[in-house]
This record gives sequence, structure tokens and C-alpha cells, in this order.
Amino acid sequence: ERAVVLITGCSSGIGLSLAVRLASDPSRAYKVYATMRNLAKKERLMECVKGSCKDTMDVLQMDVTDQQSILEARDMIKEKRVDILVCNAGVGLIGPLEAQSLEAMRQILEVNVLGTIRTIQAFLPGMKAQRSGRVLVTGSVGGLQGDDPSGQLTPAGLPFNEVYCASKFAVEGVCESLAILLQHFNIHVSLIECGPVNTNFLANLRRPEPGEAALVQVDPRTQGLYDAYIRHCSSMFQDAAQEAEDIAEVFVEAIRSQSPALRYYTHSALLPLTTLKLAARDSSQYIKTMSHFIFSSHKAEEP
Ligand code: NAD
Repeated sequence: ERAVVLITGCSSGIGLSLAVRLASDPSRAYKVYATMRNLAKKERLMECVKGSCKDTMDVLQMDVTDQQSILEARDMIKEKRVDILVCNAGVGLIGPLEAQSLEAMRQILEVNVLGTIRTIQAFLPGMKAQRSGRVLVTGSVGGLQGDDPSGQLTPAGLPFNEVYCASKFAVEGVCESLAILLQHFNIHVSLIECGPVNTNFLANLRRPEPGEAALVQVDPRTQGLYDAYIRHCSSMFQDAAQEAEDIAEVFVEAIRSQSPALRYYTHSALLPLTTLKLAARDSSQYIKTMSHFIFSSHKAEEP
């Protein structure tokens, strides 16, 4: 019997790649429900599978901010169960914090945090009842920080990404908490922690728009640091970004594992910052090193 997979955010990026990867798996072991907020954007996905996945993939509409659409998608699942739930939909938000509108911040939290929670809520009772299931969530390592002696890496903050990082940290808390309970139901929760990935993420992320309600005049020092961050970000994406297909393989590894871990890292050599594994537990080393790493070009300009 095929494992029934439901993935959110499949119109582009990681969600699209994973849907294609699983639906075209030579074993034909998966039936994929590729969901997306806007069905008008399904052409790219359809092009990728070129009609080869007629019986292994269905596309459904699902907006993770809309409870009704989640429940309607759930009702459309022919098998009446989901074995593997992938919460992948997410959006970024960058810019100086004081320039973010309440509306933009709410929107990010609504999609990344409550959207993920709502989706899990909808499928959890079914998984509990069948005493099996997998929940996989696309996580983000803003920067990498090692904060325990075993060398485990945990996500860490990134300047000009305060609200985005807050949303991704929140998701960490949700998953870690659930993982403990769901052991008792043979349900495994895994976070697939990504660094930069070549997707529509950068194009789709929100930034403060001129004229947005809460936009304040950002001081020149902040603006300079923001410009330096943007340069850093572009070079990180140029030099270190992974492809969505690589991320899909890490999902597959987690899915195939008999005893999946809570965290998978897609990019072990992400940053020279991995040396911070040995650094102080109070995070002071992380703050200093990250600031130097991101803003060194800026400091060079300003004595
Ligand atoms: P992407 O923008 O290509 O994909 C995000 C998808 O989420 C899009 O298809 C978008 O339509 C969808 N989405 C947005 N709001 C939605 C909603 N309300 N309901 C349903 N779908 C919605 O970018 P991506 O890189 O593939 O992003 C996928 C996940 O990976 C996100 O959670 C993102 O935070 C995470 N991530 C990305 C990167 C990166 O560098 N690209 C790094 C770390 C984590």
C-alpha cells in the first residue's frame, strides 16, 4: 500500500521539488497530495512531472492561513488518511524591525507559525488513531549555533530577520514539544533545517514597502548596516545556496529512516561559524562572530 503524503506550499521551491521527487519515485511507494494556496500556479509543478505521475500525484488547493481550506483539502484525500505530513509553506520578512508594519509581521506569523500549527492540528487526530505517522517541517538555520557539549547545532538569530527568525524558532518549539508526546503514538516529528536554498524564497519574501503604515524613517547607521546585510545575503546565496532537489533528498532520508531524528541539517558545512560549537553557552561568541561575519564589509567602510 502506498504511503499517503501531503505537502504544503508546492507551487515552487522545496515543496515543488519534494512533490516531484516522491511522486516520481521509482518504487511508486508514495501517493502525493501536492497542495498550494493558488491553483493557478500549478503549471510549473505539472510541467515537472509531465503527465508521468497521474496515479501518484494529485494537486489540491490549501491556504494554510485558512482553516476551511485545510479541512476541505483533507476531505478530498481519497485514502482518508495521511501517513506523511510535510509542513513546508512559509514566507520570509526582512528589513529593519522598526520599519515593519504590524500587518506584515502578523502575516508572517500567521503563515509560518499558525499555518504550520493549524495544518498539524488537522491531521494529528487521524495519525494518532492509526498509531503511526510522520510530520516533517521545513526549518531554517538563520545562522548555526552550537549550544551544547554534544555539538548539536540549533537555529540562531539573524539581523534584519527578527520576525522571520521568531517564527522559525516558534516552529522549533512546536516540533520539539510534540515530538516528546508523539513518541507514544508511533508518530515521528522531524525538522529539516535549511540554510540558503535557491528557490523563489528571496523573490517572495516581504520587505517594508514605502508608504506602508508603520514605515518610519530608518536612521542612516541602520540603513548602512542593512545594505551591508543585503550584500552579505546575496553573496551567501551565490556561494553557499543549495538546490531544492538537494533538500528534497534530505526529506527522503528522513522519510525512509526507521527511527527518524528530530533534526536534520541539509548543509553540514554551512558556515565557518560551526567552530562556535566550542563557544560559550551564553551566546556572546555567537553574537560577536555573526556580527563580524555579516557586517565586516560595512565596518571596513566606517572607521
Ligand atoms: P518558495 O517561496 O519557493 O516556497 C514557499 C511556498 O509557500 C510557496 O509555494 C508559497 O506559495 C507557499 N505559501 C506561502 N504562503 C502560503 C499559504 N498561506 N498557504 C499555502 N502556501 C503558502 O520558497 P522555499 O525556499 O521553497 O520555502 C519553503 C520553506 O523553506 C519555507 O518554510 C521557508 O521558510 C523555508 N526555508 C527556505 C530557505 C531558503 O533559503 N530558500 C531557507 C530556510 C528555510
